Amino acid sequence: MYRKLVATNLSTKFREVVKIQSLPIPVPGQGQLLVRNRFLGINASDINFTAGRYDRRHKPPLDLGFESVGEVAAVGTDCSRGYKLGDAVGVFENGAFSEYMIIREDRAIPLPQCAPSYLPLLLSGLTASVALQCAGEIKEGDKVLVTAAAGGTGQLAVQLAKAAGCHVIGTCSSEEKMALLRQLGCDRPINYKQESLKEVLHNEYPRGVDVVYESVGGEMFTICVNSLAVKGRLIIIGSVSTYKGTSDTLAPPVPVSVTRLLAKSASIRGFFLPHYARQYPSHLAKMVAMVNDGKLKCVVDNGNTGGPFVGLESVSDAVDYLYSGKNCGKVFVQLNQTSKL
Ligand code: NAP
Repeated sequence: MYRKLVATNLSTKFREVVKIQSLPIPVPGQGQLLVRNRFLGINASDINFTAGRYDRRHKPPLDLGFESVGEVAAVGTDCSRGYKLGDAVGVFENGAFSEYMIIREDRAIPLPQCAPSYLPLLLSGLTASVALQCAGEIKEGDKVLVTAAAGGTGQLAVQLAKAAGCHVIGTCSSEEKMALLRQLGCDRPINYKQESLKEVLHNEYPRGVDVVYESVGGEMFTICVNSLAVKGRLIIIGSVSTYKGTSDTLAPPVPVSVTRLLAKSASIRGFFLPHYARQYPSHLAKMVAMVNDGKLKCVVDNGNTGGPFVGLESVSDAVDYLYSGKNCGKVFVQLNQTSKL
């Protein structure tokens, strides 16, 4: 038997609607792998998923979790990619909050080793890499503002923008995160609890910023829109500050000044990673090469305070931890499952 986490009701109150189910370990079929998950990636959107915000047609019980790193535990028939038992793979599929899962072998992401440090490259890293290039159209010399810069996806956005030759400004909420952002090469970290973001941008960037990687929403979004330079692009990555609300949508409507955008030839661009699936292989390969060359750091957090998060039972704690805003880098849960094949 193995165990997985499911949502039995729809709500943003993750802890209240999840439960652990036990099932027989499945046998992989044609072209499939059985993966034994070791490390689970926690995402801000895990509570959007339990709230049913992504696809109203999905009814509980819902399989949860978007990503994991694990090992091949069994290889199905007619597999052609040479996977062997014990090979490390990244999994980027719904249902990853599970001790074991079946995936198509062509969707497995081969990894050099089974380590949590690869988790940030999956959903978080792909979002940063693809969004900055395809929606942000970043180029050398651009001034790029990253919000929630010390978080799961923000840390990669900071480093990738820096590697592209941009000047990077990053927001965060603690001195610990300020230190991390400096280590990652962020040119102007801003602790918005200590300094006014609006004033820093107004005083230090009077011509505005060229690109904003914006994932916080609410007041932060408004400040960022108003700080765009001529021809500036704000990428809507998310709106984490509003996800805990009970509304059906990710974020309530926010007024935007059309005049201001027009006067600056500026734009606001939505970005949703699944629309860019074709870009995944090239962006993943680029990031793995950067990690191997020591040019990209993947910061992970198993609960620096309140952790370590071990076992499916601790996924709710890990989600709460992310929402406490204390996480430095990507939050993850380690699985030490006892079930054996
Ligand atoms: P994360 O950045 O690891 O954690 C969330 C961070 O947001 C916190 O550490 C906190 O950092 C900041 N934050 C600011 N206001 C907050 C509030 N009111 N409540 C909670 N956190 C707040 O999370 P993540 O999983 O990487 O996700 C970050 C954003 O990226 C989310 O908006 C998510 O939906 C988005 N995302 C979008 C896509 C896409 O395809 N569009 C894909 C992946 C992720 P500070 O306290 O330092 O500000």
